[in-house]
Amino acid sequence: MPKPVNICVVGSGYVGLVASVCFAEIGHSVICVDNDQSKVKLLQDGGVPIYENHLPELLQKHLSVGVHFTSDLHAAVEQSEAIFIAVGTPQGSSGSADLSYVEAVVCEIAQCVDSYKVLVEKSTVPVYTNEWISQCMIRYGVTRHLFDVVSNPEFLREGTAIIDFLHPDRIVVGANNERSAELLRRIYEPLTNGHYYAADGALPGSLTADNPAKLLVTSAQSAELIKHASNAFLALKISFINAVATLAETVDGDIEDIAAGMGLDSRIGTKFLRAGLGYGGSCFPKDVAAFSWVAQQQGLNFQILEEVRKINENQQDVFFNKVRSALWTLRGKKLAALGLAFKGGTDDIRESPAIVILRKLMEAGCTIVAYDPVAMDKTKAVLPPSTSMHYASDPYAAAADADALLILTDWTNFGCLDLARLKETLRFPVVVDGRNLYKPSYMLEHGFTYASMGRATTHTGSIGKEGKRRLPGSIRIETLVEGLEAQTDTARQEA
Ligand code: NAD
Repeated sequence: MPKPVNICVVGSGYVGLVASVCFAEIGHSVICVDNDQSKVKLLQDGGVPIYENHLPELLQKHLSVGVHFTSDLHAAVEQSEAIFIAVGTPQGSSGSADLSYVEAVVCEIAQCVDSYKVLVEKSTVPVYTNEWISQCMIRYGVTRHLFDVVSNPEFLREGTAIIDFLHPDRIVVGANNERSAELLRRIYEPLTNGHYYAADGALPGSLTADNPAKLLVTSAQSAELIKHASNAFLALKISFINAVATLAETVDGDIEDIAAGMGLDSRIGTKFLRAGLGYGGSCFPKDVAAFSWVAQQQGLNFQILEEVRKINENQQDVFFNKVRSALWTLRGKKLAALGLAFKGGTDDIRESPAIVILRKLMEAGCTIVAYDPVAMDKTKAVLPPSTSMHYASDPYAAAADADALLILTDWTNFGCLDLARLKETLRFPVVVDGRNLYKPSYMLEHGFTYASMGRATTHTGSIGKEGKRRLPGSIRIETLVEGLEAQTDTARQEA
């Protein structure tokens, strides 16, 4: 094993906390700093502030041995060779990334540097942020030879963050000199030379001692662009398949078959070709906007990113209309909502399509009974329990006497519900699935009216004959019902 490096990680959120325990796991000595005192106290006591697979066990293994938590940035910086900045970079005005948290951290670091340090951008930041950080350090009186700034973007996915960190597809290091690049190589060496994968107790994943992690060294600017371009490309892939889904539905195609057929082409691949409610979370929406802003600053019009955003937002309307079509009118309807997190495997509700959709349904007069395995506490802070918003302890409790069941998050458990029990529990056997967790034919066999994304709605029950229902002349039932409801709403307003 190479010599351990003393590392400071600033920020103990999804990225900072995962990076801290993973650096400890590969043998380094880590101090994780956060200015949220209550979070630091919780972590010092062995508590885990976020839901993330493998995080509790790694925290327990390394707490107070390989990783320490503190609010004292000065002491942490003094003891460290590398300082990873992993604070938030939320969307600011005009789509640009708000870098004020990064700047605040850099100003503080500048006041306690008295020996050579490498500042590492782990947060997702626009191109040239490395330059701004350098300028800021100099402005605050740090001499140039006492620091370097390196970009080391993070590609982990919430839900699989620990395994993604320890078994990365690639490690990107954007360094404008060899000295700082060398330190980053040393930090990641247990992953790039395969020693970690050969060690007893190593968490298994896609990489092995014979097939270790790859580290790519680029300029700092290129590394910053790699991160933004990667997220924008993944968002584009999601919006593309969602646009195809909308088309598929109009011609009785099945988006799951179409995505499978496309994904078998190794140039395309199956990942991120899932039609659904669109992307959410704390990264894609803001990173698409920030990348577009970066292009604008350089006088370029990256129009495709605007289309990606529009298609994404439209998915929520598409789903809303499906709920309305399934129920005719919405006012007074009771809906069971499965899933609040922006995707399965996480408790993160930032920019969650589920929350946007539930708000819209409540505005339309629906009562919601929601269930999510881990995201309910966080959701209660933004959608407090009320006469129109309730929380249930499991999917069946949520479904009790509901007019329909909505699937909003792709938790795997939601794809294997006891359908006989669900049918008994619901008031009407209607499921609107924004994540395509079931096959329409299977739901029809089990007696459900089932609407999903990019596939024809299958109907059962007393209205019309069973199976796919299509009106003559290619008018879709949803269009007809939307029209009827619009007329009813207008009539109500006029009354
Ligand atoms: P987060 O909001 O979960 O965590 C940020 C943490 O930084 C918080 O705990 C906050 O208290 C702390 N903080 C803020 N200002 C501070 C200061 N001055 N001193 C000390 N601590 C401070 O954010 P996150 O999801 O971990 O994301 C961090 C960065 O990583 C963002 O730029 C994000 O775009 C990027 N990123 C996120 C993911 C992801 O999946 N969440 C993946 C890759 C990259």
